[in-house]
Amino acid sequence: MRLSVRLNFSLVAGVTLVSLAIALYQAQIETRGLKRDLEHQAALLADGLEKSAAPLVASQSGRQLKWLVDRFQSTIWYGPDRHLVHYMIRGGEYLNVVAIVPSTGEVEQRWTVPATTQDLVDAFAGWDDRAAAMLSKAEDVSCWAMYYRLRDPIWLDGRVALLGDACHAMLPFMAQGAAQSIEDGATLAACLRERGASDVASALLRYEALRLPRATRLQEMSRANKTRFHLHDGPAQQARDAQMAERGDRSIPAIRWLYAHDASALGSAAPPATS
Ligand SMILES: Cc1cc2nc3c(=O)[nH]c(=O)nc-3n(C[C@H](O)[C@H](O)[C@H](O)COP(=O)(O)OP(=O)(O)OC[C@H]3O[C@@H](n4cnc5c(N)ncnc54)[C@H](O)[C@@H]3O)c2cc1C
Repeated sequence: MRLSVRLNFSLVAGVTLVSLAIALYQAQIETRGLKRDLEHQAALLADGLEKSAAPLVASQSGRQLKWLVDRFQSTIWYGPDRHLVHYMIRGGEYLNVVAIVPSTGEVEQRWTVPATTQDLVDAFAGWDDRAAAMLSKAEDVSCWAMYYRLRDPIWLDGRVALLGDACHAMLPFMAQGAAQSIEDGATLAACLRERGASDVASALLRYEALRLPRATRLQEMSRANKTRFHLHDGPAQQARDAQMAERGDRSIPAIRWLYAHDASALGSAAPPATS
């Protein structure tokens, strides 16, 4: 019993972390190199099929990668026990790749372990060929254990207030950690402005009351997405896919509460219980 408690929980600076037995691979792909490869492959192809079999191989590989540089949107792939996210950063200079997979005991215990491009490719064996083609181009691969942090009930201590990951670290499955930290800052500034320098204590209480429900809700939604993204084939997976195909869960009314929220408008009510 004592051993299992040790394996599943960590206490770091007074914060309780619960193991989720998943790991995160982080990698980047330089798009300039990718585009160069594609141009090279196109040139080989234009050179003629009769010279060698290389253009055939090149054109197949090119088809598997061309879509990556042709689209700028963030892309998520779901599969049993894992998911894969990629999106452009630095104005399209790099493709950032985040891959969530079941973790090993070693990762759980060490938090971070060195990883290779091949580890990343192997983690998605059997997936669509385009995933392998993309992952084989990944550079600077790292692997971290992922933990869920139990809600921290204390955001304030006198005139000291926490914001951001310090009080509501969340799994990156709603892409909201930094966004919520920025919202905290906007709300905190508005509360301090409203109450003035003579009433900092009540401004901080107001800040906490406004921010805690929303940040907590997003922590919980992020955690729930671990289950939703990682479904095995079956009725639940089919229901999820059907819902996504209808765009039901990304319709404007469904996501307004999240993206149209004005964090500096202090009159805004707590978020609705369901989206
Ligand atoms: C893979 C991944 C993908 C993510 N994707 C998204 C996304 O798409 N959208 C999104 O909104 N969020 C995303 N996040 C979450 C986001 O990165 C964090 O929520 C955000 O960085 C938290 O900001 P913060 O300022 O609270 O904390 P941090 O970014 O951790 O900043 C804290 C800073 O304090 C410094 N520090 C620590 N201790 C001390 C000390 N004693 N003295 C001085 N300085 C100190 C640290 O070095 C650090 O620079 C993602 C996270 C991960 C891991």
